[in-house]
Amino acid sequence: MFRRPRPTHDAQVIAVTPLTPALVRLTFHGPTLDALGVEHPTQWVKLGVPEGHSRAYTVRHLRPAEREVDIDVVLHGNGPLSRWAEVVRPGDAAVLAGPRGRRPSFEDAGHALLGADESALPAALTILEELPAHIPATLFVEVGDATGAGLPLPARDGLGVHWLTRDPALPKGGTLADALLAADVPSGTTAWLAGEAHSVATVRRHLLTDWALPRERVHSKGYWKQGEADHKE
Ligand SMILES: Cc1cc2nc3c(=O)[nH]c(=O)nc-3n(C[C@H](O)[C@H](O)[C@H](O)COP(=O)(O)OP(=O)(O)OC[C@H]3O[C@@H](n4cnc5c(N)ncnc54)[C@H](O)[C@@H]3O)c2cc1C
Repeated sequence: MFRRPRPTHDAQVIAVTPLTPALVRLTFHGPTLDALGVEHPTQWVKLGVPEGHSRAYTVRHLRPAEREVDIDVVLHGNGPLSRWAEVVRPGDAAVLAGPRGRRPSFEDAGHALLGADESALPAALTILEELPAHIPATLFVEVGDATGAGLPLPARDGLGVHWLTRDPALPKGGTLADALLAADVPSGTTAWLAGEAHSVATVRRHLLTDWALPRERVHSKGYWKQGEADHKE
C-alpha cells in the first residue's frame, strides 16, 4: 500500500523517568516538534535510534509550545529499541517520524472496553483521556508483575479497572486474553484492543463471533508478536 513519507523530526532525549520497573518515560525535545501535529488518541511515531533501528511508539503527550514529546517504552529486554531505552541518557539523539494512525471511533458507544498490555497502555490512556465523560469504560491491563500496576489513571466516573498480573505459565498476552474471554460485554460496547498479536486476534474473534459486535465497533492491533522482531500488521 502506498504511504506518504512521514515527516521526520530530529530530537534529543531530555529526561528519562522510570514509571514502573518495566516502563520508562522518555521525554524528547526537538526544534520542529511543535509541528508534529498529533490530532487524536493512539497516534504513534516511528522512533529511530542511532544504530539505525526504528519501531512504532505511541505519542503519550505532545507539548507543542515546549517542543516536547513523552513516549513510554516497555523494557522487555529483547530488542534494539528496548535495549536502547535501558541505557539512554539525557543528551542522546533520536528521530521521530510521523505521526501515523487512525482515530478509533467511539461514536454512539454505550460502553468502551479497552484491553492492553504494557506496550499498549500508553495508547489506552490517550483514549481514556479523550473519551466523552458520559461513556462508561472498562480497562483491562496485563502487567508483568504487581509492580507494574497502579500507574495513575485519568479520573473519570464509571471507570472499571482490572490490573492483571501475568500468569508465568501462559504466553505473554494469555492472561489478558483469558480475562477478556470471560468478561461481560454490555450491549453497545465499542472495543479497543492492542498488545501481543495472537492474544489480540483471539479476543477480536471472540467479540465478533460470540458477542456479535459489529466490525466497526472492534478496533484492534497487534502491537508486537511473540518471537518476531519489528512486527507490522
Ligand atoms: C501503533 C503502535 C504503537 C505502539 N506503542 C508502543 C508504546 O507506546 N510503548 C511500547 O513500549 N511499545 C509500543 N508499541 C510496541 C513496540 O513497537 C514493539 O514492542 C517493538 O517490537 C519494540 O521493539 P524492540 O526493538 O524492543 O523489539 P523487536 O526487535 O521488535 O523484537 C525483538 C523480540 O522482542 C519481542 N518483543 C517485542 N516487543 C515486546 C514487548 N512489548 N514485550 C515482550 N516482548 C516483546 C519480539 O517478540 C521479538 O522476539 C507499539 C506498536 C505499535 C504498532
